Amino acid sequence: MPFVTGLKCRECGQDYKIEAVHVCEYCFGPLEVQYDYDAIAKSMSREAVESRPRNIWRYRELLPVSKEPTIGLYSGYTPLVRAERLAAELGVKELYVKDDSVNHPTFSYKDRVVSVALSNAAELGFDTVACASTGNLANSVSAHAARAKFRCFVFIPDNLEQGKVVGSAIYNPTPVAISGNYDDVNRLCTEIADKYRWAFVNINLRPFYTEGAKTYGFEVAEQLGWRLPRHIVVPTAGGTILPKVAKGFEELTQVGLVEDTPWKIHCAQAAGCAPVVTAIHRESELIEPVKPNTIAKSIAIGNPADGYYVLKAVRKTGGWGEMATDEEIVEGIQLLARTEGIFTEPAGGTTVAVTKKLIESGRIPRDEATVISITGNGYKTLEAVKDNVPVPYPIPARLDAFDDLYESLTGKDESAKASTG
Ligand SMILES: *Cc1c(COP(=O)(O)O)cnc(C)c1O
Ligand SMILES: [Zn+2]
Repeated sequence: MPFVTGLKCRECGQDYKIEAVHVCEYCFGPLEVQYDYDAIAKSMSREAVESRPRNIWRYRELLPVSKEPTIGLYSGYTPLVRAERLAAELGVKELYVKDDSVNHPTFSYKDRVVSVALSNAAELGFDTVACASTGNLANSVSAHAARAKFRCFVFIPDNLEQGKVVGSAIYNPTPVAISGNYDDVNRLCTEIADKYRWAFVNINLRPFYTEGAKTYGFEVAEQLGWRLPRHIVVPTAGGTILPKVAKGFEELTQVGLVEDTPWKIHCAQAAGCAPVVTAIHRESELIEPVKPNTIAKSIAIGNPADGYYVLKAVRKTGGWGEMATDEEIVEGIQLLARTEGIFTEPAGGTTVAVTKKLIESGRIPRDEATVISITGNGYKTLEAVKDNVPVPYPIPARLDAFDDLYESLTGKDESAKASTG
């Protein structure tokens, strides 16, 4: 890894070499990949990045990989959509949607982190990969593992949406549904990871996995013409993506790819699982675990592993956090679909609803450029909205039947008009 210098404990600073370890043996703090930023600043340019294929590896200097990557060659570089109609609806001037609902191959931000984790699993010589998941991660690990020929086990709670369950099973992993919530799944997986020595992407490969989330932030900056937005709103589950988007922005500044302009990062959670937002509101350092109860299952983690780092990033940048009820989440999904033609899952509905609240409360001033992070796809979670959308009008295949329907809907009688063509 040309620019990677090793792993370091985020709490006590102890150094480790690159291997599948994730907690410090002295203080149990999480380990993080270290880079030689001076060397990166000398060799990484906007032009070099722009000349590379449109995938997460275009930022390879700032990612942990030493060989030519072979996993994730189609992941990342998702659209940054200028959201004019949503902006008008929310009463702001400059709004964007970073749309990972169309990430390749499994339609969520997890395709980024899994690409980096599995590349490291391959380099470290593992033949079996696994994960503890709220659904999207299992989808992505299953898909990438199939293509890269890993043996694969995915562990999920037993109450997930069909789209998420089938969306893993189709790739033929060994899926395991555990009775309980994600926090139960994660606890069991920590024991399995210890005993079986597999590459658990979000447990023992966590230092590498989490680095992949920086690419979401790198792309936002590049797609804005190499500048940082004034605000970005990011959902929080286990607490990977939010601090890593913040780290991505800091790194781009540090290596001189963007100007050092002020920005704030804001946290979005569902009211039925908001341990981090609650701590933000209480201005507390302590994140009290909760028992999740929300339709936003992909972000229903009651005891977030990296919640503390979400708090730190939000506070450091002067950001804030809000929570959205299930009803507001569904409205958020509908609002994004109706204004921008983007169908997101409840995690995205949460982010839209929270952005609306932050604008209304003045935390996001109406004239400051804002990015909404859409991290997952609504076609996987039809259950969440199926009772809130129109049912198709049933008619027989006859023109007069449609004429009748049209008249009943519009009050206009077109039945006498002759057809042309
Ligand atoms: C996993 C996930 C998130 C955020 O999870 P973190 O653990 O906080 O990174 C957000 N949205 C969707 C759709 C997800 O699947
Ligand atoms: Zn330590």
